Amino acid sequence: MSKEIPYKIYLEEHEMPKQWYNVRADMKNKPAPLLNPGTKQPMTLEELEHVFCTELAKQELDDTTPYIDIPQEIQDFYKMYRPSPLVRAYCLEKKLGTPAKIYYKFEGNNTSGSHKLNSAIAQAYYAKKQGLKGVTTETGAGQWGTALSMACSYFDLDCKVYMVKCSYEQKPFRREVMRTYGASVTPSPSMETEVGKKILLEHPGTTGSLGCAISEAVEAATTTEGYRYVLGSVLSQVLLHQTVIGLETKIAMDKYDIKPDIIIGCAGGGSNLGGLISPFVGEKLRGENDYQIIAVEPASCPSLTRGKYAYDFCDTGKVCPLAKMYTLGSGFIPSANHAGGLRYHGMSSVLSQLYDDGYMEARSVEQTAVFAAAEQFARVEGILPAPESSHAIKVAIDEALKCKETGEEKTILFGLTGTGYFDMYAYESFHNGTMSDYIPTDEDLKPGFDSLPKMD
Ligand SMILES: *Cc1c(COP(=O)(O)O)cnc(C)c1O
Repeated sequence: MSKEIPYKIYLEEHEMPKQWYNVRADMKNKPAPLLNPGTKQPMTLEELEHVFCTELAKQELDDTTPYIDIPQEIQDFYKMYRPSPLVRAYCLEKKLGTPAKIYYKFEGNNTSGSHKLNSAIAQAYYAKKQGLKGVTTETGAGQWGTALSMACSYFDLDCKVYMVKCSYEQKPFRREVMRTYGASVTPSPSMETEVGKKILLEHPGTTGSLGCAISEAVEAATTTEGYRYVLGSVLSQVLLHQTVIGLETKIAMDKYDIKPDIIIGCAGGGSNLGGLISPFVGEKLRGENDYQIIAVEPASCPSLTRGKYAYDFCDTGKVCPLAKMYTLGSGFIPSANHAGGLRYHGMSSVLSQLYDDGYMEARSVEQTAVFAAAEQFARVEGILPAPESSHAIKVAIDEALKCKETGEEKTILFGLTGTGYFDMYAYESFHNGTMSDYIPTDEDLKPGFDSLPKMD
């Protein structure tokens, strides 16, 4: 039965997934619906269509269809950079001296440098199919904006990106990659939108936040003819598109009779983790198999480990629907942390429900320990990981070292979401010893919780 396991496991073209898997269909407790912030009633398709492309709004509301076809055009685009490799980390295992077997699914093998392209191309496709002129979005660390600009240029769509001002200034190269793909990039908050002007008036000199950039992008989409808003994480539709990660992994592992004992992923808005674990969680939900699943988040932005499970605003300007999620409150501002993609105050409603029902655990880790793990990984496995991805590396190493103590030969799988070439300021502050590990006190978390909407 057992075949020799190659260093990298790729799939043949005919083995590639042709459908995404919608884990909500197998959940007994469905994620709570998005609510209209005015009426507090579940959002209808008609309401969502003003903001999102129609087909994507349908996917957002679909809690029952288990498999959704990946349109041929998207499958064709995936062929440019997929399958992504599933790598056996032999060198890391050796370095750690662990009996554990470590695998990682590497999503950094495309110019955007992260998994975000998997959903960007899907969202651009549906926008094009609907005959739209363009889409608007926000970007924090820049990976999502880059991925979307690549996807939009492929389908010849306009792409307008509101980039959190501090990133805009700190990461000029990300900005230029987006412009290379034809996107227009505006630092947020800006004077281009009403909500941007209002935020600038209330907080002059602010360097922006993801929540604020979302508000601006939504306003721009809803006030411009032929435009819709697209989002790179948190939403159930995004998690659906990202299941291509987990499906490829499952097919590759099944091919070699590998069964992971522990599955680990970093969690910002939850899309890569949700995508990686979906096929495995599906088996768990149906009672067919069991896996230990660990979500890893920064100690500076601990939405699962210290947040509340409540309805909350998705953005600072409070223009988006309310989502029930583990959240620190839309008013929460995390301290300086270099993993920009993990700085969001809330978590996917799908993952929040799975976590609340005990299907997965969560762990928070401190920044310097994350970079130490990143560096250790880079030195033995070659890949220079993104700060976000390195959260998963840190916990994978911790678990492998536990196996060293107990002698257990567990199989550990983690998601390596991207590369960190645009994060060298972060690596620099780690090397210079100036990186902070500030963990918010309960006092620091209070204003965020106080900003939660009253649901009466
Ligand atoms: C955006 C991003 C994340 C976090 O987003 P999720 O939606 O939680 O997956 C993680 N890693 C990288 C490299 C990212 O760009």
